[in-house]
Amino acid sequence: MKIKELIAPLEQWAPRSLQEDYDNSGLQVGGWDDDVSAALICLDCTEAVVEEAAKHGCGIIISHHPVIFRGLKSLSGNGPVERTLLAAIRHGIALYAIHTNLDNVVDGVNAEIAARIGLENLRVLDPKPGQLRKLVVFAPTSHADAVRDALFSAGAGQVGAYDECSFSSQGLGTFRPGPGTTPFSGQHGARSADPELRIEVIYHVPRESAILAAMHAAHPYEEVAYDILQLANAHQGIGAGVLGELPKALVQREFLQLLKEAFGLTAIRHTALLDRPISRVALCGGSGAFLIGKAKAAGADAYVTADVKYHEFFEADGRLLLADIGHYGSEQFTMHLIRRRLGEVFPTFATRLTETVTDPIHHY
Ligand SMILES: [Zn+2]
Repeated sequence: MKIKELIAPLEQWAPRSLQEDYDNSGLQVGGWDDDVSAALICLDCTEAVVEEAAKHGCGIIISHHPVIFRGLKSLSGNGPVERTLLAAIRHGIALYAIHTNLDNVVDGVNAEIAARIGLENLRVLDPKPGQLRKLVVFAPTSHADAVRDALFSAGAGQVGAYDECSFSSQGLGTFRPGPGTTPFSGQHGARSADPELRIEVIYHVPRESAILAAMHAAHPYEEVAYDILQLANAHQGIGAGVLGELPKALVQREFLQLLKEAFGLTAIRHTALLDRPISRVALCGGSGAFLIGKAKAAGADAYVTADVKYHEFFEADGRLLLADIGHYGSEQFTMHLIRRRLGEVFPTFATRLTETVTDPIHHY
């Protein structure tokens, strides 16, 4: 299978355009048209992981964390990043990373963490702005159904768990065909007035080019009249962190014990226990201290994340239980998530999870 075919469903799920500005998700080594017959999936791609991929004949490594993150000035084997890249190139192994774009979808990294502790009713904690637009297109009444169908099949009209959402209103469209035109109706040089429907649909920005192409293909007019409007509405499925509820409230020590068991931890760093049970939980895989304020504002009883610094623990301010379960701890199951998604689309394509434990932090 070509790398671009293998990666397409991942990027439909978590479009690269959703990654943060500082990030470097995407194909880092190899070509989109290269053929691969097996993929190794991991959290961190290290030299040991590359050797493991080579041993098992995996032509691509799909990692959550990008190997090239800050830019390179040489490729001569200085340091672990350069050695990993050189090893991949020498073995002819492609490297692909799906990082903050997978953090920013509600069914991504954080959904996997939430599932491990049984959180229900998941929604994004900090919706990413600028994700939604509205398309308004004017179509002759006779072709309104065809245009609507085309928009829906290209991904327009999805609102939460509802799809095929649109609004239509009837009106009168006027136009005068100029010389050299082939009008759908009317005469050259004479004003036409035709009954038209104004069709409105909302959509997620990464789908825009597919939606416009579908609209043009289904619309009978030579010149399609349409408007694209930027919306200030938040997309409930796109953004940082998630919020959900436990099926039943737990006393705080039970909750910490649940975290320990679910993530195989020997210790959790947390703020002082509060005088209330845990029901609503916010969480963010990896370095999520930047969301402590959002978790408090959302009324979370606990906020679970990683890489919390000393002074950041003070920000909990007695309002929630802040628990740091470690970066590796929180994101260790991301590779299972990626593998499951690939397996749903390509049930016969060979994928394997790394057996290399890449957590650089040990506890004594
Ligand atoms: Zn991470």
